[in-house]
Amino acid sequence: MNNKELCERYSFLIPRNRFTGKISDDFDYSYTELDAMPDGWRKAFGERMCEEIRDALIEANCLDGYRISQIKEKYGTLRWYDFGATQKVYDIISKYEYISGFICQHCGSPYAKEFNDGWISTICENCAKIPHLDWINATDDREPIKKSLIITGYSNGESYTREIPVWDTWCAIIEDYLSGKYGDK
Ligand SMILES: [Zn+2]
Repeated sequence: MNNKELCERYSFLIPRNRFTGKISDDFDYSYTELDAMPDGWRKAFGERMCEEIRDALIEANCLDGYRISQIKEKYGTLRWYDFGATQKVYDIISKYEYISGFICQHCGSPYAKEFNDGWISTICENCAKIPHLDWINATDDREPIKKSLIITGYSNGESYTREIPVWDTWCAIIEDYLSGKYGDK
């Protein structure tokens, strides 16, 4: 999808003034909020993530009020900050933030490891040939990706446990990767 198509389908990707919430009068679709997502993750699941968030917002009738405040990478994983979300949207974001830790942030390869050369990043062997990175520094002793995330917490005087399925989304990403169906960018 080009930027105009993205903004039409996912209205929350239209950049807005952070303080007033207004869309600039001269906005020309030259960029969207999704541009802040590292290229590899965007290729691997950017549009899939937006589509899931959109579905959940429509279901709860809150697409119009939903706003992104920031999308970025931190410690080798995705961070997606927003407001106007529902519980279901938070679960979708948690799922993709988790999955991002297994996907190369540069090229989208699902064969990525965590690098720590003073700066944590998630990178594949190919991209590690970029001179300043050393594949040796990649950790290989991490747990493999989980089939689902278990979230526990405490809210309104009660403890809760929620399960967020990860596996189907992970398999869909791998399938896209292997069949060359990754998005552009
Ligand atoms: Zn890579």
